[in-house]
Amino acid sequence: MNKADSERMAGILQSMGYQQASAELEADLVLYNTCTIRDNAEQKVYSYLGRQARRKRSNPHLKLVVAGCVAQQEGEALLRRVPELDLVMGPQHANRLELLLTQVDSGKQVVATDDNKILEDVTIPRRDSKICAWVNVIYGCNERCTYCVVPSVRGKEQSRQPEAIHMEMQGLAALGFREITLLGQNIDAYGRDLPGITAEGRRQNTLTDLLHHVHDVEGIERIRFATSHPRYFTDRLIEACAGLPKLCEHFHIPFQSGDNNVLKAMARGYTVERYRRIIDRIRELMPDAAISSDVIVAFPGETDDQFRQTLKLIEQVGFDQVNTAAYSPRPNTPAATWPNQLPEAVKVERLQELNALVENTARQRNARYDGRVEEVLAEGINPKDPDQLMGRTRSNRLTFFAAKGPEGCSYSPGDLVDVRIDSVRSFSLSGTPLR
Ligand code: SF4
Repeated sequence: MNKADSERMAGILQSMGYQQASAELEADLVLYNTCTIRDNAEQKVYSYLGRQARRKRSNPHLKLVVAGCVAQQEGEALLRRVPELDLVMGPQHANRLELLLTQVDSGKQVVATDDNKILEDVTIPRRDSKICAWVNVIYGCNERCTYCVVPSVRGKEQSRQPEAIHMEMQGLAALGFREITLLGQNIDAYGRDLPGITAEGRRQNTLTDLLHHVHDVEGIERIRFATSHPRYFTDRLIEACAGLPKLCEHFHIPFQSGDNNVLKAMARGYTVERYRRIIDRIRELMPDAAISSDVIVAFPGETDDQFRQTLKLIEQVGFDQVNTAAYSPRPNTPAATWPNQLPEAVKVERLQELNALVENTARQRNARYDGRVEEVLAEGINPKDPDQLMGRTRSNRLTFFAAKGPEGCSYSPGDLVDVRIDSVRSFSLSGTPLR
């Protein structure tokens, strides 16, 4: 989500005539788009800001901006801490960057952290990839997971109109993009705030409806979506994914804990049994689907037995990838105030054990690709080997292969290439192109 916001803000700066500087310490305008999901990400921002604040003292024309979730969380307090800042702007203000910079130009120090109706976004992002693009479909989150800072920094859910999403995807297809990842903090909530009930009394404008609606965009070969919430992940959605050919067989569904009492304390609104049923249904319809997830260990009060339940779930499901984190107390969240916080040493120990298991499981899951032929969408040159292209399988495996194929043919970014996999590592594959 932050990366997509960064691309939008970079697009605005570009349209204002800014060019990318060769180094951070040479730029005339520095914008940090920040993350506050964990404390160490937040601390990093302060160390970057220290260096820029020193520069600003000898170069008053330098413009310093902090955007994103740390900006939203800290607001004016950030100006007191770093008085050299010109602009502090929350994520809901990303598409107002030009207007806010105009206010800075008139000599003001600006804080933009009030609730903002995002409306239809007309910014043209400067995208890092020319092949794969993010498309926001819903901003904000109405859930109240007790560890999570997102609802307090990204505000209430705001869904975009299906027609606007469709049009954006058509525009991207015309520019040569081949893969779209639809984005939402809790994407299963898409459309809850849009009107519409079907003749059968069903809510219209669900994520499933949206997938059907955008599936016909010509030129777009692959569609993904993230992030899913097990509480709202429906059978109808799974069936749509199985039935719509452009939908990739990769699901990112965070489970966060393998223990029902911990899930309850997290206010996640589902049980381990419900989570397992979702995975079973996906595998029933798409046996080879890749499943990735997010998990937090050492949540306040988590016992060793409860932690072991998490390990057990990872073994039982056999995830392709899991993003792991030790619990980090965040401001304005209920769990941060609870007295049963666990010591650092327990966090480190559990995280290490978890990571070893995750890596092992990923390696085992990856082994199934050995010798198989996979369709890879070439995204670019391998930065470590200019004779190779890199891309992803439909199941989102990073794959490297020779840029030149049999009989002298060569491939370019954007090509869909059949690759025979002949080397398998924990987090990537290599292979030989076949045609
Ligand atoms: S659904 Fe996701 S973004 Fe929303 S509160 Fe829960 S963890 Fe945070």
